Formats: sequence, structure tokens, C-alpha cells
Amino acid sequence: MLAEIAAATLVCLDPGHGTAPEIGRQFEPIGPGSSRLKIKDPGGASGEAPVALAIARRTRALLLARGYRVAMTRDGTGYRGGNRERARFCNARGAALMVRIHADGSSDPGVHGISTLVPALRRGWTDDMYGASRRAGRLLQRELVATTGARDLGVVERSDLTGFNWADVPVVLVETGFMSNRREAALLRSAAYQQKVAGALARGAQRFLMR
Ligand SMILES: [Zn+2]
Repeated sequence: MLAEIAAATLVCLDPGHGTAPEIGRQFEPIGPGSSRLKIKDPGGASGEAPVALAIARRTRALLLARGYRVAMTRDGTGYRGGNRERARFCNARGAALMVRIHADGSSDPGVHGISTLVPALRRGWTDDMYGASRRAGRLLQRELVATTGARDLGVVERSDLTGFNWADVPVVLVETGFMSNRREAALLRSAAYQQKVAGALARGAQRFLMR
């Protein structure tokens, strides 16, 4: 019975950035009906895109092994959509959870740690999945911090993320560490740490989906 439920459940993974440059510099509305435009892909922190993809691939393998179905918005470089497209991709597949995988950057090289971003409440945009996204965010953040021992920067609500505002399914964005911090960047580039992060994401997703 549980295996049947798991088999029907789709997790959508969205490794950040990695967009074709001519697409990435285009603009798109930050939410349905909004006149506020935001760039599709500013490029991310230095080295972020390949780290995000590597973690996503490892997470996919772990979720598939647990019997879930997995879709990925990109599985290479040269992605040809914006964040609206990434959300629509997961919406169209009826994902039970969308996990956006990123790493952070700061002008202060001393800043480090993991945070999980979740949609802020906005009627008509996120009210259909606000509560579920918050619950998923708390579960993933707890697993990430417990597994990696990274500094806990908490769960943070965001109203300005295009990929949240267009989503109709529960969605979180994990900032898995700072590429601008020498120690954390080295960890994020290592296979062992990527696997730890992926394990935390798979366990957190499963905790969210089992309830
Ligand atoms: Zn990013």
C-alpha cells in the first residue's frame, strides 16, 4: 500500500541557474498578472550551477530508490526557460513537492550556513500551497542542518521569487551553503558532502510526503 502511494508520488527537482545566456538575460513577470519584471537568471554564485545540478542528480537517485517518481527541470546546462517556466514544468506534472536547489553567495567571505526559502503568503498567488510549503521547508531545513552540521540560518519567507509565485504546488528553495565561503564551497564541490545534502533532501521530502 505504502509502496503504491510512493510510486504515484512525483517530486520535482529544480537545480538553479544553468540557463542559456541569451535566455537568462530576458525578463519575466514575478507573478501572475504582475507588471513587476525580474531577470530570468542572473547566473547565481560562482560555481553554483554545477553544484546544484550534482546535488539534484544525487537526490533523484535516492528518491527513485525509495520508489518516488522524479522530474527535473534541467539535467545539463543551456536551460531555455525562466523561473516561471520551471514552476510551470512542476505544476503541469502535478508534483507533490518542488525542491529548488541552490547555493548562496555573499560579499562577506565569512558568512556560511544553510537556509531554506519558502513562499510568503499572497492571496491568489501562494495561498493554495503556503502552509504545505512552510511545513516542507521546516522538515528539509531540519534534515539539512542535522545531516551536515552546517550553521542553521533558518526558514525564510520570500515574496519576490518568480519560481515561487508561479508555483501551484508546494515549493521550497534550499540554499545549501555559501560558494563565497572557502570552506563551505570546498565541501559543496565534494562528492561526499553533495551526497550528505542529497540524503537530507530525500529524507526531508519523504517526511513531508508520508504525512
Ligand atoms: Zn541561486
